[in-house]
Amino acid sequence: MPLYEYQCEKCQNQFEVLQSITQSNDIENQVKCPECGKIETKKVFSVFSSQSNQNGSSQLSTNTSSGFN
Ligand SMILES: [Zn+2]
Repeated sequence: MPLYEYQCEKCQNQFEVLQSITQSNDIENQVKCPECGKIETKKVFSVFSSQSNQNGSSQLSTNTSSGFN
């Protein structure tokens, strides 16, 4: 289950919410702040490890087909 980080826009409290993917559609904007109980929270994205997609040098072996006659 993914762990989302939210921040309350009222008290600036940051908290983490465990949400399943199937539930994340509707309740995304209805996460209650555990501190003040407001639902005016926004999802913040924690630090992601930026992985640059490097294309590995894929060497295509030349297909030498020897024809038998
Ligand atoms: Zn709050």
